[in-house]
Amino acid sequence: ASLAAVRASEDAIHAFLLVDEEGARARAAEVQKKIDAGELTGPLAGVPIAIKDNICTKGLATTCASKILQNFVPTYDAEVITRLEEAGAVIIGKTNMDEFAMGSTTETSAYGVTKNPWNTEHVPGGSSGGSCAAVAAGEVPMALGSDTGGSIRQPSSFCGVTGMKPTYGTVSRYGLIAYGSSLDQIGPVAKDVTDCAALLQTVASYDAKDATSMKRDDYDFMSALKEDVSDLKIGIPNSYFGEGLDPQVKESILKAADVLKARGAEVEYFDLDLIDYAIPAYYVIASAEASSNLERFDGVKYGFRAKEYEGLHDMYKKSRSEGFGPEVKRRIMLGSFVLSSGYYDAYYLKALRTKALIKQEFDRAFEKYDMILSPAAPSTAPRLGESLSDPLQMYLGDIYTVSVNLAGLPGITVPCGMDDKGLPIGMQLIGDCFSEKKLFRAAYTYE
Ligand code: GLN
Repeated sequence: ASLAAVRASEDAIHAFLLVDEEGARARAAEVQKKIDAGELTGPLAGVPIAIKDNICTKGLATTCASKILQNFVPTYDAEVITRLEEAGAVIIGKTNMDEFAMGSTTETSAYGVTKNPWNTEHVPGGSSGGSCAAVAAGEVPMALGSDTGGSIRQPSSFCGVTGMKPTYGTVSRYGLIAYGSSLDQIGPVAKDVTDCAALLQTVASYDAKDATSMKRDDYDFMSALKEDVSDLKIGIPNSYFGEGLDPQVKESILKAADVLKARGAEVEYFDLDLIDYAIPAYYVIASAEASSNLERFDGVKYGFRAKEYEGLHDMYKKSRSEGFGPEVKRRIMLGSFVLSSGYYDAYYLKALRTKALIKQEFDRAFEKYDMILSPAAPSTAPRLGESLSDPLQMYLGDIYTVSVNLAGLPGITVPCGMDDKGLPIGMQLIGDCFSEKKLFRAAYTYE
């Protein structure tokens, strides 16, 4: 059924970079036997799933939507893939994304744009736009995305699906092609909160292969799915609802707050400072880490190599010049600049200090509140092409998501309305580290 849905939708949506029809069929048959024999009983047994193309899949091309990785076929699986296989999930294919997860619209992909299933003249958001569009179009019930500064939560909002960025360290990054290693987390995208929790508990684990992996006491996220918010205190930051927020988005989020209140939660406005510093700090840190992480793509070890060159340095130069797209180059240049001698203290170190202050500000908020309610994005999905001409404007669209990554916190996006063009609006719930269960419960009660 999933493959039929893919066939029916892909011409219009282009959510996938690769559909592994043969592999999925074989795998489904094998899983069915195990289900029949009672060997597979978990919630993901036999469930079709799509994987963002920056997550390594053994034997299946993994390109990060970049020309530089066009021929790269990993020889190993990411830890999340091993977990999915053990649980009996069936991988349908790999989804489109912004090149190396840098972007907010999926338009920086080297392999064409993905369209928003609600209105194909609009973007699906990004960078996990392919994963979110695949779920929204009903091609798969769930998908994996990655979130460095909002890449699960923002496209989930634009596509009307549910997506979570877990606490940093909850899901192994082994086999996730790094963008900003201190910010990156893999997370679930699904049609509802229950599926999101089922997927997260399947892929979350302590993993010694990821040095920043965390051992948690409890991975049973589905046990949190109860309709009760009577013990929860929810804070709404005043500064998140000022200038720059689309009035229709604002109205939907505040209505969602009323719903949570009516269901028993205590809801209160409060001051959360430092929001103005989140975007500059994020783009300095993320670009710095990216410039270092992307050094390995030099035309030697992976995928693409320029056809004509003179000598080794020229080969590096031409391969990277031809292999990376403009947004990735912009980030590499920015990152190399802020890390270079003479600028390091003024930019990179200052951004790290700002990150620490933002974390402190959140810590203060969580002394008083169980969670924070906010928009996921300042607007609904922009039209195709609208964001590409002005990168700075695109960066500003990440205002509600990037601080969550800087502080390592979990955040979930749940659909909460539509604008007058019929485009979905999502609300974001942000919790303290390790509070995923509370977030799932609040989202489940709201839904
Ligand atoms: N839009 C942000 C960026 O371009 C976030 C992307 C992400 O989370 N991967 O960096």
